[in-house]
Amino acid sequence: MAKIQAIRGMNDILPDQTPLWQYLEDTVRRVLGSYGYQEIRMPVVEQTELFKRSIGEVTDIVEKEMYTFADRNGDSLTLRPEGTAGCVRAGEEHGLLFNQSRRLWYTGPMFRHERPQKGRYRQFHQIGVECFGMNGPDIDAELLVMTARLWQALGLAGHTRLELNTIGTAEARRAFRAALVEFLSGFRDDLDEDSQRRLETNPLRILDSKNQDTQRILDAAPKLDDFLDDESRAHFDRLRELLDAAGVGYTVNPRLVRGLDYYGKTVFEWITDSLGAQGTVCAGGRYDGLVEQLGGRATPAVGFAMGMERLVLMLETLELVPDTVSGDADVYVTAMGEAAVSAAMALSERLRDELPGAVVMTHCGGGSFKSQMKKADRSGARYAVILGDNEVSAGTAAVKPLRSDDPQQELPQDQVGDALRRGLGRVSDQTQ
Ligand code: ATP
Ligand code: MG
Repeated sequence: MAKIQAIRGMNDILPDQTPLWQYLEDTVRRVLGSYGYQEIRMPVVEQTELFKRSIGEVTDIVEKEMYTFADRNGDSLTLRPEGTAGCVRAGEEHGLLFNQSRRLWYTGPMFRHERPQKGRYRQFHQIGVECFGMNGPDIDAELLVMTARLWQALGLAGHTRLELNTIGTAEARRAFRAALVEFLSGFRDDLDEDSQRRLETNPLRILDSKNQDTQRILDAAPKLDDFLDDESRAHFDRLRELLDAAGVGYTVNPRLVRGLDYYGKTVFEWITDSLGAQGTVCAGGRYDGLVEQLGGRATPAVGFAMGMERLVLMLETLELVPDTVSGDADVYVTAMGEAAVSAAMALSERLRDELPGAVVMTHCGGGSFKSQMKKADRSGARYAVILGDNEVSAGTAAVKPLRSDDPQQELPQDQVGDALRRGLGRVSDQTQ
C-alpha cells in the first residue's frame, strides 16, 4: 500500500533538530522573561471573520493564503495565519486590555497557503510579542532593544540589520494613497503584474515590490514622508533618539510598509543577508487601531513576530549552534543479566537524584556486552556505567570513560555519582 506522506510545506521537526529548536525557544523565553513579558496561549483555530477584519480583505494573507474550512455546523473557521488577531481577541474577551499595560508573548504554529521554498512553509512557527496600553515611542524602542539583545544572545547580532519606517495615521496614509494612485496610474502598463493589481486593491504594497522597473518608477512618485502628520513624525523622531541612545543601529527605509492593514506609525523589519530571498526574520510595528476595529475600546498596541524556521536556518547556516546544544546523553548505564537489570534501574534513579540536569540513559532490551557498549557510544554519553553479575554481588559498578583514554574505574555504587560529577564537570569546563 502506498505510504501516506506529510502535507506539502508542512514539516516534521525530527529528534536531531529539536535540541536546536529548544535552545532557540529557551533563549527567547529567557530574554522576554527578563523584560517582564508574560506568555499567553491561544487556540490555533479562530473564526474566519477575525482575520478578515484585522489583517484586511485585500491582503495576500486573506486573499489567497488562509486555510479556511466549514465547521460541522457550517461556521467558517480558519487555521491562524498569524497571532496578533487571536491575541487581541483573547485579550479583549478576558478583559486584559482596556486601561492596562500588558506585555505579552506567544509561540506556536501558523498556517499560510504559500509556495513552499527555503524559509517559506505552509505550517511555520512564530514567536510573537504584543504590548497593549502604551502609546509612546518608549515601548517601541523597548521592543527593538529587546530583539537586539536576543540577537546578541544567539550570536546573530552581526548578521541582522534593522529597517525602520513610520507610516503615519490612517488619514495620512489615505491622502498619500490617493496621490500615489494618481501618479502610478500614469505608468500602469509599465508596472509589474502584481503592482497593477495592487493599484486597485492595496496600492501601498507597491512600495515593497521587488521589481526593478517598478522601483524605478517609484523614485519619482510622491513620498509618504510628505503626507505624515505631526504626531507620527514626533513619535518617530523620539523613537530614533531612544534607539540612538541605546546604541541600536537602524536604517530608515521609506518604502517599508508591511503587508497587513492594521499597522500605523512605527513599522520595522529585522533582515538578514545570510538566507537569500527569505531574509526577514522578525517584523512588526504599531497597530493602535486594531483593538477598536475588533470591537474593543481604543487601546494603543505594538508588537512583532519572528519566524522560527528562518532563525533555525540562520543558526545552522552560520554555524552558531553552541556545542552544548545536542540530544546527547551524559551517562549510559548498561546491565548484563537479570539481576543487573534491576540494579541498573536503581542505580540510574540514584544518579538522576545525585546529578541534577544530567541525562542518564538506562539500557533496555538486553543484548550482548558489545551491542550495549555500541548503544552507549551512539547515545553520545561521556561515561558508561557497567553492571554485571560480579558488580551486583559486590555492590560495585564500573565507570568507563567513552570520550577519553582515562582508565575504567571499579567503584562502590554509592560513589559512582561523585565520580561522574567530577568527570562530567571536568569535561564541560574544558569545552567552555
Ligand atoms: P514575507 O514578506 O517573508 O512573506 P510576511 O510579511 O508575510 O513575510 P509576517 O506576517 O510579518 O511575514 O510574519 C512575521 C515573520 O514570520 C516573517 O518575518 C517571517 O520570518 C515569518 N514568516 C512569515 N511567513 C512565513 C512562512 N510562510 N514560512 C516561514 N516563515 C514565515
Ligand atoms: Mg508573506
